[in-house]
Amino acid sequence: MNAAPAKVFSGIDFYRALFDNPKKNSVLLLDHTGIILETNRAFLLSFGYDEADVIGKDFAMLFSDEDRKRDLPMREIAMVLDEGQSFDNNYLVNKNGVLTWVSGESVLITNAAGGGKYILKVIQNIHVQKESEHAITRLNTFNEDILRGIEDAVLVLGDDLRILKANRSFTQLFALAEEQLSTMDFRSFMRTFDGNDGLYTTIMATLESRSCPPKIQVDLEDAGGNKRNFDVSCARMDEQEGENRVLLIFHDVTAQKSFERQREDILNFVAHELRNPLTNVILNVELTGQLLGEGKPAEVTGFIDRARVNAQRLKKLINELYKSTRLISGNFDLESTVFPFGEMLDEAIDAISQIHSHRRITWKGEAGVNVLGDRDKLIQVITNYLTNAIKYSDDDQPIEVTVDITDHSLTVAVTDHGRGIPPKDQPFIFNRFFRAEKTKNLEGLGIGLFLSRQIIEAHQGRTWVESAEGKGSTFYFNIPLHEVEG
Ligand code: ADP
Repeated sequence: MNAAPAKVFSGIDFYRALFDNPKKNSVLLLDHTGIILETNRAFLLSFGYDEADVIGKDFAMLFSDEDRKRDLPMREIAMVLDEGQSFDNNYLVNKNGVLTWVSGESVLITNAAGGGKYILKVIQNIHVQKESEHAITRLNTFNEDILRGIEDAVLVLGDDLRILKANRSFTQLFALAEEQLSTMDFRSFMRTFDGNDGLYTTIMATLESRSCPPKIQVDLEDAGGNKRNFDVSCARMDEQEGENRVLLIFHDVTAQKSFERQREDILNFVAHELRNPLTNVILNVELTGQLLGEGKPAEVTGFIDRARVNAQRLKKLINELYKSTRLISGNFDLESTVFPFGEMLDEAIDAISQIHSHRRITWKGEAGVNVLGDRDKLIQVITNYLTNAIKYSDDDQPIEVTVDITDHSLTVAVTDHGRGIPPKDQPFIFNRFFRAEKTKNLEGLGIGLFLSRQIIEAHQGRTWVESAEGKGSTFYFNIPLHEVEG
């Protein structure tokens, strides 16, 4: 288009038309102090005023209280007078008090003839646009809040496996700083944590095939070097900004997996430990039947004895298993009474000495206190310690029990001079079903110490071991003394 002839634009009607006719753009004419001299119809319609409401008033009346406090009207006038124009985005007040987001531009006009200075202010209503911007911001904040609140680690990857987004659980899991994410190559990053590249391969296949597998199981090492099991759900996001994106949700199933493994261990263990004595009982009962059939009743005694011994072993194993499940489920009550500790200790040692009359068990220390606790269960703990001391040391080696009493607690130590426990096994010795490698040839369930710990912890006490391989062990328990001395 050719440039329009200058004389058309300079015509006064042209300016009048711009002032009077716009439908959307509000126009105000102010004097150089901000007093409203004239408005167009679009302004009156948009903001609900009559001419009488505004003409002769300071244009500051159109600003919100907030903006007035920030001196926006004054600053606008000062800028127009100084620089010839000003531009702003702010709220304008409607006659009914409603605030409307506007975008405005003010221009300085000098009237050459009269020498006066005026300000022409053109205002556009951008409320709808602003509201939708706000809605988007609110939605984004809402999404961010959800993402932050999710316990699962969440990750969004772009086409080239750039990390586009990761939530806090993810960064915490792998001890990453937020700033690291944008520069991170997902493959090399995952390699550090995912030994066999399983996740990487699946994600690549997902991006190529445009479909996600239902669930990917991966084992990753977290930042602390702990093996963790994850079910990773993957979802392809709709193509955005020209790229395919994949959403990954890492659901930590470590505890669940470990529970499953534990249950399997228990089942295997039960099957393994119960099978032998049961087979024995069956065999001996069958042989007894056979001998009776052959008319040799005199010969059955030995087989019946064996059947009985094995049946009793079975009963003992089942009892211990039962107790251990009750204890682990926290499903046991202490039957607490007040009793003299020394008497209880004598009784426990006597009972064991009767069965193992060839073993030398001595005790020293001061045990003349009354204790509040479950007498039978404490006997069980001492019996477990003593039985182990006997089992894991040679017949000619003595066993010593020491009692140590302070103002607030009582400690019992059972010392043997047997095989001891390797340092690597010591942290696990009180775990259920744990048995040191070297003692697996001896009969046992690996439950006694576990039960002992549960019982002592129920008394608000603690258990521990000191041991040197080849030299012997001392097993301790300590329980608090309540004010029951008498
Ligand atoms: P169990 O003796 O039936 O195997 P425990 O829970 O009593 O079960 O003991 C767990 C494991 O701790 C034993 O298998 C053994 O390896 C080790 N242990 C316990 N007491 C001693 C001890 N006094 N000396 C050496 N090792 C011991």
